Amino acid sequence: MPKINGTSTPPSSFSTMQCDYYNELPGTLKGVECSLCKNKGSILVEVEGYTVLRMCECQKQRRALQALTKSGLKELVKEYTFDTYLTKEQWQYHIKQKALEYVTNPHQSWFFIGGQVGSGKTHICTAVVNRLMEKGFEAHYMLWRDDIVKLKSSVMEQEVYQKAVKYLKEVKVLYIDDLFKTERGKSPTQSDIQITFEIINTRYNNKNTITLFSCEKLIQDLLEIDEAIGSRIYQMAKHYTIEIREDKRKNIRLR
Ligand SMILES: [Zn+2]
Repeated sequence: MPKINGTSTPPSSFSTMQCDYYNELPGTLKGVECSLCKNKGSILVEVEGYTVLRMCECQKQRRALQALTKSGLKELVKEYTFDTYLTKEQWQYHIKQKALEYVTNPHQSWFFIGGQVGSGKTHICTAVVNRLMEKGFEAHYMLWRDDIVKLKSSVMEQEVYQKAVKYLKEVKVLYIDDLFKTERGKSPTQSDIQITFEIINTRYNNKNTITLFSCEKLIQDLLEIDEAIGSRIYQMAKHYTIEIREDKRKNIRLR
């Protein structure tokens, strides 16, 4: 411990003043209001007479918020939570239980929910992905029909294309919404299938990644569109493959 002689202010109270001064300064960070660091993201603390700059607790929240914005799910997560998922009927209860079970151990498998339009598939997947983000996983939301068009249009600019595809291949959690949903029910094109396969196959080979799917089709339909894709999804999601057979009563949008 250093001793400072000839000063009337003991070292500890001087550093206390420094800390108080610093900690009162307003910062410029946005998104989270923090009374502790006044939105600077750091606080000055006193340790054995010295001042030490520490990261403020709010930084975790700021990072989570950034991740959420980047994921593309920021708007969906407000509405689509586990709490707001209705379980009035047995089949809904079953889906929710499966999803809750899945989030406790997502590393062992993928998650697939397919079938009936309007049965809350995006809702439950969003709730799952949000829970995984809360656990600190980076996630990305891919709305298949829009993103595949963007990817195809960037094929001529190899650098842009490669960068986008690389991200989709490597991001820890990828949620592909409405897989193979095309305009007016047309079959996906060869390039749709090829790009999708490239992404799914890389993730299939990298067991560290987590992939979720919602889809209006059932596994059997996927196998018919492309066996390599369908079989990989089925193999990886097996226990967490949920299929909702066509049944208009299960379309909650029609109620
Ligand atoms: Zn703070």
